[in-house]
Amino acid sequence: MSENKKIEKIVGVKGMNDILPADAPLWELFENTVHSVLKSYGFQQIRTPIVEPTALFSRGLGEVTDIVEKEMYSFTDSMNGDNLTLRPESTASVVRAALEHNLTYDGPKRLWYAGPMFRHERPQRGRYRQFHQVGAEALGFTGPDIDAELIMMCQRLWDDLGLEDIRLELNSIGDAEERSKHRADLIAYFEQHKELLDTDAQRRLHSNPLRILDTKNPTMQEMVNAAPKLLDYLGEESRAHFEGVQKILNHNNIPFTINPRLVRGMDYYNRTVFEWVTDQLGSQGTVCGGGRYDPLIEMFGGKPTPACGFAMGVERLLELMKASGEQYAPNQCDVYMVHQGDEAQLQSFVLAERLRGAGLDVVLHCASASAGGSFKSQMKKADASGAAFAVILGEDEVKNATATVKTLRAAEGESNQVTISFDGVTDYVVEQIVGDHDHDHDHVHYHP
Ligand code: ATP
Ligand code: MG
Repeated sequence: MSENKKIEKIVGVKGMNDILPADAPLWELFENTVHSVLKSYGFQQIRTPIVEPTALFSRGLGEVTDIVEKEMYSFTDSMNGDNLTLRPESTASVVRAALEHNLTYDGPKRLWYAGPMFRHERPQRGRYRQFHQVGAEALGFTGPDIDAELIMMCQRLWDDLGLEDIRLELNSIGDAEERSKHRADLIAYFEQHKELLDTDAQRRLHSNPLRILDTKNPTMQEMVNAAPKLLDYLGEESRAHFEGVQKILNHNNIPFTINPRLVRGMDYYNRTVFEWVTDQLGSQGTVCGGGRYDPLIEMFGGKPTPACGFAMGVERLLELMKASGEQYAPNQCDVYMVHQGDEAQLQSFVLAERLRGAGLDVVLHCASASAGGSFKSQMKKADASGAAFAVILGEDEVKNATATVKTLRAAEGESNQVTISFDGVTDYVVEQIVGDHDHDHDHVHYHP
């Protein structure tokens, strides 16, 4: 390469974001909260691969869905010709894995997952090409009780995350037979209003008319509002199921509104469908969607196994958390180690290990290109780290087998520096942190 040739910087893929250290504490808090809420309902985690056979999604999600029609990252493995896809969602993967490993052989299973999903959409606020979902799938449960439990689990998660202003919309889309009666009437109705249908709707008129109800096109709203409602077509069993869900929610004071136009993007849903929506995120206001998908497992070649689940969009929920004004202080560590001289450097390694062994987070000053190693510049680093203490080793300390502990956040007028024996430092610092600050050792210092 010639010396004056400019090296072009490679940037990341459009719509796929880096999650930077400044945001990591928020992600961790979210993930830890999710983990403990789902565990408290007896859900077990499942981790499936990010790459799956393309047929899993094209068959599983239905050919006439946004995802399969235009959003999948599909490619051919040039080594062996396999048709593969980066997963756009995880329900199909969880069902595949459950069948492959016969997970429901001894009864129903409550499962959850978290991870990145990939959809080739137009990137905008709340809509990315790599995004993250947390989802739950309850396999093998028939009754409305599990539907209600999944919904209540979401409510608890919003509460634990300190999120308000997320409301629940609920609907039932019945079973296949009920939908086919409704569908015939719906197509007839749309045909009467053909002049109002946009191109998307015209294309779906015969392939997936239910999805037309889901349109965001403002010029179609009025006409769509007056369309035949699936709820009026529900038979006895579907109606009883829907009422069963509502009864449990009402009994537990979970507010909801019934939205007769609510349908879900994927073809495999039946009966209960729900969405959690907020007005605070502009047009990308759905933070979680779910429902029952009784036919899916049989469609995949399994024994008939009723099921219900949801998936939530992590980026949208994190944006809500940020908007809710909660402060989180990402302290890098509890203790910053400052040292001067070769011997002191060696000893500071020893002391840092002891402090870590006692459960503290310790950053040891290391040489860098940007900052000098002077005492002053090290103390600046210590301050910026957010540590409660700087532990300082200089020539005097080494000679006397001591260390100096400096309180970095001492109140005005308080003495903030003590020199104590090298062997006493660990106990002293632990005592100070546990005693004074009620240190919880989860290292994400979130202050509601
Ligand atoms: P939308 O109508 O917004 O496209 P969807 O019906 O495609 O949503 P689901 O497949 O139900 O969404 O996914 C569940 C949740 O995942 C959504 O409610 C949303 O919070 C989140 N989500 C979906 N697509 C994206 C994306 N491209 N970027 C960020 N979050 C997303
Ligand atoms: Mg979508």
